[in-house]
Amino acid sequence: MTYTMLDRTVEWPGSYRCAASVSFDVDLDSMLELTHGSAARKRVSGRSWLRYDEVAVPRILRLYRDLGIKQTFFFPGWCIENYGHLVEACAADGHEIALHGYQHEVSYEQAPGEEERLLDRTIAAAEQVLPGVRPVGWRAPLYSLSDNSPRLLIERGFRYDASLMGDDVPYLLRCAAGDLLELPSEWANDDWSHYAVAPDLDYSVQVQSPASAGAVYRAELDAARRHGGLWIAVWHPNVSGRVARLEAVAELLADAQNNGAWLAPLAEIADHVNGCIADGRFTARVVYPDNKPSTVHTATSERV
Ligand code: ZN
Repeated sequence: MTYTMLDRTVEWPGSYRCAASVSFDVDLDSMLELTHGSAARKRVSGRSWLRYDEVAVPRILRLYRDLGIKQTFFFPGWCIENYGHLVEACAADGHEIALHGYQHEVSYEQAPGEEERLLDRTIAAAEQVLPGVRPVGWRAPLYSLSDNSPRLLIERGFRYDASLMGDDVPYLLRCAAGDLLELPSEWANDDWSHYAVAPDLDYSVQVQSPASAGAVYRAELDAARRHGGLWIAVWHPNVSGRVARLEAVAELLADAQNNGAWLAPLAEIADHVNGCIADGRFTARVVYPDNKPSTVHTATSERV
């Protein structure tokens, strides 16, 4: 028996039963530099773990070519400035480039005006490396969206945020500047929950096997498929791009493709959902960053 779990679902394109997307956050050693400043240069081992991204990104791109899929890569602005070749490689293969803070700073801890300044610096870095390509997606570093972030993102033309965990299906963040689509994920689908040991960043979990982490991802993905939801993996090349783990990822994604999941970049999913909201096929829940009670979107919804 299938139980009804979701109050609302999106009508996914064609005969797809759910939307699924792997987002890789390519953080490199941005956090090491931010956390330790000039002392970061002494932390050679910690840096080597973070810079494994340089090995893993080309490997992930090869896998995506083999599977015939396009996905999303999030880059902090500092990484775009220092590792432009990785951004170019992802873009050259037709993947979406989205943005992820400047140096992996916590958005809600920024002094007045600083969040805005860093956002503009990150956008400028992307424009420098990819002339004519304007990223439309955002994930706040460490899921640290501030109450100010939706306004700043809307004012700069972003079409979605992917920093929150407030639903199983997309919803709207509403502020005075307008509505921003939220594409939510959850810790279960974040690879740091299963694999990350980063003493230089004061974080560590008990490392799981690829089979164990894969079982968690698969349970989440299967549930999304049964109920018409959305599955977003929040992974990191230096964590999930290790050989044994990426082999498990390859199997998971091939199965997803063969079993009714729409594997697409987040921007494509956002455009589909925004279209469904605009023509009334999807009644999105509306959430206010300033903590007012949530409501639902209608053509005549009261704006703040
Ligand atoms: Zn990150």
